[in-house]
Amino acid sequence: NPEEKEVSYALGDGLIGRAAQDNMTKVKGQTDKGQDQHPESHLWMAVPINFKDRMLGVIAIGNLKEPVGNENTLMKMIADIAAVALINREVLGEARQEATTDPLTGLHNRRYFFNMTHKFVEKAIAESSPVSIFLFDIDNFKHFNDNNGHGEGDKLLKELSRLILESTRKSSVVARYGGEEFIVMLPGIFKEDAYVYADRLRKIIAEHPFPHSEKQPLGCVSISGGVASFPNDADSIQKAITLADKALYQAKSEGRNRVLQHQTQYFS
Ligand code: GH3
Ligand code: MG
Ligand code: MG
Repeated sequence: NPEEKEVSYALGDGLIGRAAQDNMTKVKGQTDKGQDQHPESHLWMAVPINFKDRMLGVIAIGNLKEPVGNENTLMKMIADIAAVALINREVLGEARQEATTDPLTGLHNRRYFFNMTHKFVEKAIAESSPVSIFLFDIDNFKHFNDNNGHGEGDKLLKELSRLILESTRKSSVVARYGGEEFIVMLPGIFKEDAYVYADRLRKIIAEHPFPHSEKQPLGCVSISGGVASFPNDADSIQKAITLADKALYQAKSEGRNRVLQHQTQYFS
């Protein structure tokens, strides 16, 4: 009933709170003599929900008109079933999270990214709209690790990920594509606008005061990247990624700390 108001019980407060505090079944007037601070509560029996050595919650019932005597046993059975259900939900959620998230940066992983490409392409076709890809790679990251240690390298990856998310609209998908490679999929954005976004992000990164940035060969932590779009450049997202990768490679060879758009002449 949505009109029923939610009542909170602190540990030790009310029948539920006392059942949780002592991790014990409490029956009003029998195993529980506590004063109820919730006068609106007509609870009669509260049973903790346990899974191994973790208490997950408390399940309670109100006064019964005609108690039969086996309520305690029944409630324990229900609590056991509830415990398994709650643990299942938790484990499933964790597994889903692990399967789609990069543990270091918290960004989506490659697998999640590729799952999303299908949805984005369907939507793009239905709406006759483009999808742009921005693929980029940290410049001279081996140098950074060699000079500052792998731990500092990890911190850089985290901080950089935060910057990327902060500078990217929510409708885009950001993923860690490889070790020090990132990818952004921008729905509804043409290549020219994707380039404007990408180059702005490049500049934000180059100007960000990352620790040790001044020791990098270019005097800053920088990225090189490439931009390509579906369907204007490529008839699949996968091909657009390949083209963005070629442009990224070109950006590296032209001196790094730059973003290039895919241009057909790379192919000629
Ligand atoms: P370039 O400008 O050509 O991209 O040079 P680079 O040094 O960035 O490229 P290279 O491929 O030579 O080195 C990439 C380095 O990234 C090597 C690898 O140890 C490091 N790396 C990859 N994943 C991680 C990570 O999770 N943590 C840390 N600290 N380093 C990583
Ligand atoms: Mg790389
Ligand atoms: Mg690199």
